[in-house]
Amino acid sequence: MTNRYEAMPHIESRVIPVDPFDLVIFGGTGDLARRKILPGLYRRFIAGQMPRDARIIGAARGDMDSDAYRKMVSDAIAEFGGQTKGSADTLKSFLSRILYVTIDARGEAGWSELQELMKGTGKVEAYYFSVSPALFGDLAERLQQWGMANSDARIVVEKPFGRDLETAKELNATLARYFEEDQIYRIDHYLGKETVQNLMAVRFGNMLFEPLWNAQYVDHIQITVAETVGVGGRGEYYDKSGAMRDMVQNHLMQLLCLIAMEPPARFDPDAVRDEKLKVIRALDPVLPHHIVRGQYEAEAGDENAHPSYREAVGDPRSKTESFVALKTHISNWRWSGTPFYMRTGKRMSARSSEITVVFKETPHSIFGAEAGQHRNVLSIRLQPNEGITLGVTIKEPGPGGMRLIDVPLDMTFSEALGDDAEQVDAYERLIMDVIRGNQTLFMRGDEVEAAWAWTDPIIQGWQTRGEVPKPYDSGSDGTVDSRELMRRDGREWREVAP
Ligand code: NAD
Repeated sequence: MTNRYEAMPHIESRVIPVDPFDLVIFGGTGDLARRKILPGLYRRFIAGQMPRDARIIGAARGDMDSDAYRKMVSDAIAEFGGQTKGSADTLKSFLSRILYVTIDARGEAGWSELQELMKGTGKVEAYYFSVSPALFGDLAERLQQWGMANSDARIVVEKPFGRDLETAKELNATLARYFEEDQIYRIDHYLGKETVQNLMAVRFGNMLFEPLWNAQYVDHIQITVAETVGVGGRGEYYDKSGAMRDMVQNHLMQLLCLIAMEPPARFDPDAVRDEKLKVIRALDPVLPHHIVRGQYEAEAGDENAHPSYREAVGDPRSKTESFVALKTHISNWRWSGTPFYMRTGKRMSARSSEITVVFKETPHSIFGAEAGQHRNVLSIRLQPNEGITLGVTIKEPGPGGMRLIDVPLDMTFSEALGDDAEQVDAYERLIMDVIRGNQTLFMRGDEVEAAWAWTDPIIQGWQTRGEVPKPYDSGSDGTVDSRELMRRDGREWREVAP
């Protein structure tokens, strides 16, 4: 076995094959399947994690046979597989494990064929619902009708999980009619990122941080998820959703939970999810003056420049936000008084997701006023360049007295662990967790409902007050009043750096 971690020869690569499985991808011809799920599975195949008799069964509305589907999968790997390596023989061997069934989630077509394929295989059975959420209930019902919702089967459910508390509750209730909670894997791909798990390793695997991880030592915490893309072709969907529903209620809330939760007694699914749930339930309601919204303006330039948000969604009066920034508090002993700031938006200056823990200043500076004020800053980068940086104060080298400077202790995973460290995409990690039956990195039904219970009043408040998002420049870091939100507190946002 070759060592993947060239820069760290003491670390051995350990890829443990999972149990034999059949994975049915409903929506197997869709955008998500082609961009993420199928190339991800191919990478796991190359890594040696897929057992010989594993099968991947695409199931979607398009009328084609398995050979045509294999061609589509091969094209998807070529287009979206990145630097995925693998010889022609490897690809051929992977494709030989792939089948396709034309199926209608709402009708009868294809179901007996799928049932026949899945009969008595004795393997792990997983059904990935990579289709519109409007079909989740239909698929669950059909799987039961056709005898495939047996007690070992697992379903993987994509986002969005509801659009408010009421619809999330309905969806949970629908799925619960056919499957137990321990069979339902609600995906939030942010939880599959290497750094997110490292966040837990850093917090709970080291003595260094946890004693300082509280209101006494932490000044504040920032979470930024910035995108450079606009709404693109998803305008119609996005305009019914907005940044609060599309990003904050799920991805940013999940990151907030992991950074703020108490140490679980064990790293097991319910122990971790119990602690996350406590964080969400301890969140204060957001006051109207602690949250701001924005819509991006058209990019400056010629006729090829990107249109404004309202142009992109085709509604000149749209009140949906493409940017949101807020301040919240967690009312418990650990965090009382520490603000948590979150922001996310489209068409921002760089694509960057980062969690930053800003520690307080030392209580007394022995170096005098001229040494300046310094703070340790721990930043956890999710994308791009996953890694962790700790800002440490040291003496500026050379003669001339005690001048202090802040330097980063930088651990960029791709540099420290070699190129392969970046090769495991969130989706492939999460799919392998489904096969292993490990729900730690998936959202539990009560977590999702609690997150909506916190989000709903914010959105209802905007609607009741008739609030309109403020414009912000494409390529900027959001609205002017988002900066004001920080400035009022004597703080500032971290630069959105690529
Ligand atoms: P898509 O529109 O590209 O593909 C939809 C798939 O569903 C197609 O394979 C289509 O054949 C199939 N389908 C539609 N109606 C069907 C029916 N009646 N019976 C059987 N199959 C049917 O959608 P997508 O972008 O791949 O998204 C799939 C899911 O993943 C959605 O829930 C979406 O919200 C979620 N998601 C997508 C992305 C992404 O990047 N595309 C990201 C996060 C979440």
